[in-house]
Parts: sequence; C-alpha cells; structure tokens
Amino acid sequence: MGAVPACFCPVHNQREYHKDVLTLFGDAPSKGGAAVEQLDKPLRRQERRRPERRALFLAQISRSLNDSLDYEQTLDRIARLAMPELGAWCMVDLLEPNGTVRRLEIIHPDPKLQKLVRELEQRYPPQRDDALGAPRLLETQQPELVPEVSDELLEREARDARHLEILRALRIGSYMVVPLKRRGKLLGTLTFVSADNGLRYAPRDLLFAEDLADRAAVAMDNARLYREAENSRQEAIAALAHAAESDRAKADFLSVMSHELHTPLNAIGGYAELLELGMRGPITDQQREAINRIKQSQQQLLAVVNDILTFSRTEHGRLSVRRENVNVNDALEAVRFIAEPLIRANDLTYEFRPSVPPAIAVADRERMQHIVVNLLSNAVKFSPHGSPIVIECAQRGKVVEIKVIDVGSGIPAEKHELIFQPFTQASTGFTRTAGGSGLGLAISRDLARLMGGDVTVESEPGRGSTFTLSLPVASDASTAL
Ligand code: ADP
Repeated sequence: MGAVPACFCPVHNQREYHKDVLTLFGDAPSKGGAAVEQLDKPLRRQERRRPERRALFLAQISRSLNDSLDYEQTLDRIARLAMPELGAWCMVDLLEPNGTVRRLEIIHPDPKLQKLVRELEQRYPPQRDDALGAPRLLETQQPELVPEVSDELLEREARDARHLEILRALRIGSYMVVPLKRRGKLLGTLTFVSADNGLRYAPRDLLFAEDLADRAAVAMDNARLYREAENSRQEAIAALAHAAESDRAKADFLSVMSHELHTPLNAIGGYAELLELGMRGPITDQQREAINRIKQSQQQLLAVVNDILTFSRTEHGRLSVRRENVNVNDALEAVRFIAEPLIRANDLTYEFRPSVPPAIAVADRERMQHIVVNLLSNAVKFSPHGSPIVIECAQRGKVVEIKVIDVGSGIPAEKHELIFQPFTQASTGFTRTAGGSGLGLAISRDLARLMGGDVTVESEPGRGSTFTLSLPVASDASTAL
C-alpha cells in the first residue's frame, strides 16, 4: 500500500459547520472544477439551485428515515437517492459488534458497470490495513475527501493487475467517506465515489454527505434502540409464557398428587375407625390411645393435602364459587360444632356474637365456613391456654364483617402482608411448635376475593389478633330468608 494521498478532513465545531454549509453551498460547482459563470445556462441554473435542492433532499430523507425502523432498508434507499444528487456510486459499510466490517450495499448508477462493481466487492473486499476508504476511517473516525483520484493513486492502491483494471474501468473522479456516528460511537461509513472522472467533489459536497450520514446514524440508532426494546419485550413475553407453562405443570402435579394421597389417607382413617369401634376384635386402652394418634395425624395430613389442592385450584383459576344469599349467623352457628372440640382440647373459651339483625351476604356458604374454620384454628393454635376466642358478626354498610378475635401471640406489623403469601409463616420457630403448611391464610384470602370480599388482619405482638372476613351484603336481603 502506498502513502495516504492528500485528503480533506474538516475538523470543525458546530457553529463553524453551519457557517461552512452556508458559504460552501453557494460555492463554485464541482463539474471539472469550473466556476458557475463559465457553465452554460441550464447547468448554471441547476448549480445555483443546488442549496435549495439539497435542503429539500435532506428534509425528505429525514422524513423517510423517521418513518422506517428497518435501517438497512433505509440506508439502501439513501444510497440510491444520493446517487443522482452526488453523481456518485455509493457504498454502505456497517461496523459489526465484533469489530468486523460488513458491506451492506454497493450501488452503481451505470448498469453496465454494476458487474465490475460486484467483482470488486467479491474479489477485493475492504481490508483493515487499506490506506483509503472505510477501513482507514474506522481508525481515524474522520471524514475523508479525495478530490482527485489520479492514476498514480489507483496504481498505489490496487492489490493486483485485475484490481487496477477494474478501478480504471470505473472511471473514478473523486471520492469521499463519511462516518455513520452516533453518541460518539462509530456505526459504519458511507462512501461516495464520483461516477464520472470529470466530476470533482468539493468540501461542500463532503459537508452535505456528512449531514446525510448524521441523519442516517440517528435513524440507525433509533432502530437499534427499538430493536433492543422489542427484543426485551419478546423475552419478557417468552418468560411469562414459560412461567405460565411451568405454573400449569405445577398445578397439574399438585392436583394429581393430592388425589393420589387422598385414597391411602382415607383408607388409614377408615381402618383406624374400624379398630377403634372394636370391629377387628377387642382393643386395650393403650391401643385406643395409639389409634387416636393415628386418626389425628391422618386428619392433619388430610387437611394439608386438601389445602394444597384448594390452593393450586384457586391459584390457577380452577376453583369456582357459588354466589348465593347466605344467612351469616346460621352459617357461623354450624361452625361452632367444628370449633367446640378444638376449643375444649386447648382449654379455651368461645363466644359467638351474632349480627343483629341477621346479616345476609352473597357468598358460597361452604367456602365461607372453610375460611372461618381456618381463621379459628389459627386463633386456637396461637392462643395461650384459658384465653378467650370470639367470633363477631356485623353488617357495616354494604359489607358483612366476620371477625375472629384472639388475645394470643399476635403478629408484628411488618409480617401482616407476608403471612398471606403461600407457604409463609410469621415465625418459623413458633410455627414449628404450632405446625401448619403456611397455606391457610393464602387460601382464605383467595377464596374471599373470589367471592368479592377479602380477609385482612389487625394484630400486635403480645396483644392478640383480629382477622376479618368481609363479604358483600345481598342487595335484596329478604330473598335469603
Ligand atoms: P399455617 O398453616 O402455618 O398456620 P396460615 O397461612 O394459616 O398457615 O398462617 C400463616 C402464619 O400466620 C402462621 O404460621 C402464623 O405465623 C401467622 N398467624 C396466622 N394466624 C395467626 C394468629 N391468630 N395469631 C398469630 N399468628 C398467626
């Protein structure tokens, strides 16, 4: 490779740039280096109109750049549009993230020469150590103008005889390379080569090409940002779909497992009862005691399995609730029968305060009772011996509130939300002694919300807890009675 020829590399600040554009646009023409006055009339008119024409061209380019997010297509369009304006053939080189140069397009206005251009592209692609053109600009990052491409220059730059032959046949007059640069980052280059060796590029042509490249770089950057945002969006959608898919698989697994566990658990309960009733022969007191333990453990395990099943159904929208008018006092009276053995076993007192007049809620009676039993068994679990547990029912406006009140251990404020998360307990240590799956409150809240209500908590450590189940009041209460 020979020495770098004399080239024009304007280094200017923004203000100077605009000054240059104005003066240079009114400057001498580039055809053969002749002054405007020396040109014949139509050509002179054309030359004088050049600034307006170029301003219009840039405005059109900007519009079409803003319209498109496919910047490769846009660059191709720019190259084609610039051809008549700059009397040029145009090459677009893109800098790949791995530092290599990818030639996007090489367009020649003369179809006869397009074949040679292709050969040039295929046999002599740009090389990093080329003294001219895009590779050099990748190093300097400065625009480059070679006003006069002499035969000596071609000889110096040609890699072999065929290369020189092609370069000569292309009748190159002058050429310029401008960076596609955005936010200080080089994205590629645009090269304009005059397709007529009588045509010389002037500095104003370089400024015009730079302006064009700046606009193209903005479009490329926008397209890149858009693509990145789009990729992230697609990734998020895929992750969500994946999560939904694995959620479904988990729900299916839980549901199959729960069903599978039900059968042997029921068998354990049934056979324990047969033994207890003496149907397999007389039993001793010690054996009765052991059978009772088996039954209790079976009940606990069954409750956990049922919780998991209900939870997976509510979480995946597979649980339906009935919406009927329910006399809340009546439904809570029924809960007392479930509560009493629990209360007695733990040496607690129980008080039920019904609503006056009786409140009618729109709810699924069984689900409502399920929630209250959950809250009640928690109150029992976390209350010291001898303490009271109260269930209070009242209508407040359009809501029926059922409160389960205890004076037990209480829950610190920062855990009030956490305890409604599945498999979460306020204190591991404490719950270990109390037992439980950490699903009761999650299920209760899910069920309440399915019925258009909610479960909330007020609690203070050492002072006890009040859990409130709220449900919508029936609009026509009389129909329920
Ligand atoms: P678990 O089956 O573990 O009781 P829950 O979802 O019903 O699961 O409750 C979650 C946690 O909330 C409990 O482990 C406990 O730490 C806390 N909690 C619930 N109810 C009470 C209560 N009445 N008093 C104190 N802590 C409670």
